[in-house]
Amino acid sequence: MKYDSIIIGGGISGLVCGIKLLKAGKKVAIVSSGQSALHFNSGAIALFGRKDGKDVLHPLDEIARVPEGHPYAKLGMDTIKRLLPEVKPLFAEAGITLVGSDNENHYRLTPTGMFKPAWLSMLDYASVSRPDSLPWGKVAIINITGFLDFYPDFIARGLNLAGLQCEARDFTVPELETLRKSSTEMRATNIARFITGDVIRRFAAEVNRIVAETHADTVLMPAIIGLFDEEPVRLLKEQVVCPLYYVSTMPMSLCGMRAQMRLRNHFQHLGGAYLIGDTVCSGNFDGGRLKEISTVNLGDMTLEADRFVLATGSFFSHGLEATPNKVFEPIFNLDVNVSGPRVEWCDVDLYKDQQYMKFGVVTDESFHVYKDGSRIDNMQAIGAVAGGHDALKEESGGGVAILTALKVASDIINELK
Ligand SMILES: Cc1cc2nc3c(=O)[nH]c(=O)nc-3n(C[C@H](O)[C@H](O)[C@H](O)COP(=O)(O)OP(=O)(O)OC[C@H]3O[C@@H](n4cnc5c(N)ncnc54)[C@H](O)[C@@H]3O)c2cc1C
Repeated sequence: MKYDSIIIGGGISGLVCGIKLLKAGKKVAIVSSGQSALHFNSGAIALFGRKDGKDVLHPLDEIARVPEGHPYAKLGMDTIKRLLPEVKPLFAEAGITLVGSDNENHYRLTPTGMFKPAWLSMLDYASVSRPDSLPWGKVAIINITGFLDFYPDFIARGLNLAGLQCEARDFTVPELETLRKSSTEMRATNIARFITGDVIRRFAAEVNRIVAETHADTVLMPAIIGLFDEEPVRLLKEQVVCPLYYVSTMPMSLCGMRAQMRLRNHFQHLGGAYLIGDTVCSGNFDGGRLKEISTVNLGDMTLEADRFVLATGSFFSHGLEATPNKVFEPIFNLDVNVSGPRVEWCDVDLYKDQQYMKFGVVTDESFHVYKDGSRIDNMQAIGAVAGGHDALKEESGGGVAILTALKVASDIINELK
């Protein structure tokens, strides 16, 4: 089977790249083996949120100062500014509403009651411009009885520290009784399947009852609604008498799963081939180019393309793997940017800079990968596998994934004209 482009990995970077390529008329396949980091998403995407342990308010100012080798430095400010306006419309076309500004971070409320800088937040997730001036008045934190992946007390404590009055309550509806028989069934994704149609009306009635009893001005609820699309999120909000916002729960992340599903559906709707649950295991190289790849499920049948994109994520998604003394890229054994002896890879102080977080495949300024010291001319790396940034410490993972994906897609579109 021959494609214009094959993308290995169907997380946020692979899907964004694939959608842009399809919209330019290219024939694209994505091969993706399993869950991605999106399944654990917080309800927000970070562009650049922290520097030297401090919150960043203006992400582009910090991006302008990243060191050589950082993916944002390779992209360059002009390209970043050109690509940023593409992000919200691309997600909106897939049915994902993102709010936020490219120039100024807002703050999202975390499941532990802290406020963290964010670039784009999903529809109606609890967020504020600044954590020192919360506009919510008295807050009712309303959980579903028996739902254990949400901690109202943590959130109440965080909001109390910020000077807000809160009251935690819970309720249930008969439709959830079957789930309540086993605590392991009370997960966000299972609950969401029941909250449709009439159940939304009953949910709204219960929430409104609690609002009246507590005299709340604002309601915070766990993100347990809208698994397949945003419609139930909107419907519940419309029927509740005061502003209602959602707080992300412990994984699995409902909004992340919805985003993954909506992006994948959009990719397929545009004509992309999505080989779900298959793993790329090897490739044939010839004259500095990758000719074809093999997958576990397709066996002897290879997949050919003019261009390949590596979007396999970092350690978490097995885009990189490690033994006690070696870090490697497991599909093609591409060159990785690991330097220094093993003892320097991580610091025993968990909160210090961890070198291993920046590990990734070696790429040139246009994200082409290297094997045995030689550039592979038709293969680029995007997202977490491209390395060079500490997604956790900088809170830059989402931005790097999306912007490198859009840039590499632009390169391919220009070259395959
Ligand atoms: C747990 C977790 C939570 C995070 N939360 C956030 C957040 O809330 N906001 C934020 O901005 N950033 C977050 N990040 C940072 C995150 O790294 C990036 O935001 C981004 O999701 C990375 O996307 P990606 O597409 O590069 O990789 P991934 O999302 O890791 O996707 C890689 C995909 O490639 C597939 N794959 C791997 N190897 C193969 C193979 N051989 N064959 C086929 N497929 C393969 C994997 O199965 C996976 O689906 C989080 C990271 C982690 C690990």
